[in-house]
This record gives sequence, C-alpha cells and structure tokens, in this order.
Amino acid sequence: MPGRDAAERALQAIEDPVRPGNLLESGRVSGLVVRDEQAAGLVLAVDDLAKAAAQALEGRIDRALKLAGFTSVRVIQTAERGDAPRPQGATVPGVRHIIGVGAGKGGVGKSTVAVGLALALKRRGLKVGLLDADIQGPSAHILLGIRERARATADKRLIPLECHGLKMLGMGVMADPDKAVAWRGPMVAGAMVQMATVADWGELDVLVVDLPPGTGDIHLSLAQKLTPSGALVVTTPQALARADARRAVAFFEQLKVPVLGVVMNMAGMVMPDGQVVHPFGEAPADAGLGADTIASLPLDPAVVAASDAGTPIETGSIAAGLDTVAARIATQLTL
Ligand code: ADP
Repeated sequence: MPGRDAAERALQAIEDPVRPGNLLESGRVSGLVVRDEQAAGLVLAVDDLAKAAAQALEGRIDRALKLAGFTSVRVIQTAERGDAPRPQGATVPGVRHIIGVGAGKGGVGKSTVAVGLALALKRRGLKVGLLDADIQGPSAHILLGIRERARATADKRLIPLECHGLKMLGMGVMADPDKAVAWRGPMVAGAMVQMATVADWGELDVLVVDLPPGTGDIHLSLAQKLTPSGALVVTTPQALARADARRAVAFFEQLKVPVLGVVMNMAGMVMPDGQVVHPFGEAPADAGLGADTIASLPLDPAVVAASDAGTPIETGSIAAGLDTVAARIATQLTL
C-alpha cells in the first residue's frame, strides 16, 4: 500500500518544467488527497504552461504515481492566475447555481446548516434543491423527516423527493442506503455526480450540496464536474474545529471554488436566566480561517429535538442567522 508519503516522494522526484524546484516545492501541485492508500488526487496549476506541456506533465504525474503503486490517479488542472476566467454556474441543466456546504470535521452541524440554508433560500422565494452527498453520515433526509425512497422515471431519471418546499436527493433516500456505506470514494463521487446531473430537478435557482466532512474525492468531483458557484464552510468556535475549517477553506480555494463564507455554529448558548455560556469556546474576532465569518449561530437544544423529529425550525435565532447567510449568498450570486 503506497500511502501519502509515497505520493509525495513521487511528486518530489519530478522537476517543475518552468519554476524552480520539484512539483511540491514550486507550488505546482496542491490539494493532494490520498484515499484507501491506493488512490491519489491532486490539483495541478497550469497557468504558465502551454496546453501540450500541461498535458505532458499530467501524463508524467499519472505514470509516476502509478509506478509508486497507486491504482487510481486524478489530476485536476487549474489556471492559478487570479484574473483567470472561472466557469461560473452549474453544469446541471435547469440548475442556476450549485453551492457546496463543507466542514473540516464531522459533528460541527454541517448537515443542519446545509438543510437550514436550503430552507432559508426557499423562504426568499427561490426554487431550491438539496443533494445529500455526505456518505459518512447521510442525515439530511432525517432532518427533513423524509421516510420515502426516491423513485425513477421510465427513462431511469431519478425523481427528487419533495418536502418542506424543497426537492431532495441523497444516499439516504436511495433504494438501499445501508449498502452505500460499503462504497468506495470514486464510486460515491460518481453517484453524487449522477444524482446531481441525471435527476429530474426541474428548474432550480440553487442546488445545495451537503458534502462529507474533510477533503476528498467528492469535493474534487464537485469542483471538476459540477462547477459550483461557491462553498460554505461550517465550524464550531473550538480551536480544534477551526484548524480543520482553515484547511477546508484552503482546499476549496485550491479547487478554485470560491468560499462564500464561514458559518460559526454552536457559538454560545443562552441559559434560561439570560446568561450566555460558551461550551465550545469563543473564536477570536479575526478567526484566521481564510474567509469571512458570515454568521454565528447559537447552540440551541431545540435544534436537537427538531432534528430528531424531522421538523426543521424555520423561525427563531438560528433561522434568522441562516436568513442572513441566504441574503448574503443571494447578493454574491445575484439571485
Ligand atoms: P455534521 O453534519 O457536521 O456531522 P450535524 O448537522 O449532523 O453535524 O449536527 C451534529 C449534531 O449537532 C446533531 O445532533 C445536531 O442536531 C446538533 N446541532 C447542530 N447544530 C446545532 C445547534 N446550533 N444547536 C444545537 N444542536 C445543534
């Protein structure tokens, strides 16, 4: 099993064709993802290379990593120049914008925010879909109280489920969700792209994608195959979570997915006497995450009960915080 060290050694053995140093020293390669110790993915900056040179370098990287024992290699070429035109908007027919919701680590409330954001965008009168791509713990259907399974049309197009004014699809509403956990990264990423592109979403202003925590294949596929308009990163104020959130922000940037902002979740809890306590600590004013914190949502035990009951709360302080996020995103994307 080759692993991450082997991938790095293979990349260090290749000199950059233009810049000084090897591919890692020159900053040519970033966002290295190694999964199951045998599949590697990376981002290759090609702005200063001619097309043929970029293709040749991608070929060399592919061969070197396969020689090092990797069975699957994915290279995403990006133009790093700040002014390079980036494809804007979704590549799903009928869908205007795709927004990924990610997090550095699990358990910070990413799915809660993804569902809450979808509902907040809907409250603005927009047509919204939600795609649950969090294979590590598909829960959006539970948060929305969906118990049915998705069906397909005669010509094999998945029909999204409709609930709380949203259209929804995800691993958790497929025929046999328990089987999905045994799927490997590339299969899941493929399934995510299929759910996004082959489903019958109709006309959507926004498709919100609940991504798995961390960085991996699904994020690469989202960036490469779906051209999202942006991503939101969720974290708690805890230093441990913030460190991972910073990495998630940097990863989206390497993938050229604009980070629309950070949502600080479970930031303080109002006690019955009005006093505010901070179970997850307090983030400094400049949280140093590489992106603006666009909302702080309190820790509210009512959210836990509502999640389990499948009845999302559409009023109160958390919904109001998510309305702010939705308004900001609507401005950023001119929705
Ligand atoms: P993730 O998708 O990051 O793993 P979830 O959205 O599943 O996280 O949330 C993890 C747990 O925290 C769930 O039990 C959820 O109900 C709870 N939770 C999330 N946000 C809040 C909040 N603001 N206040 C109280 N509980 C929350």
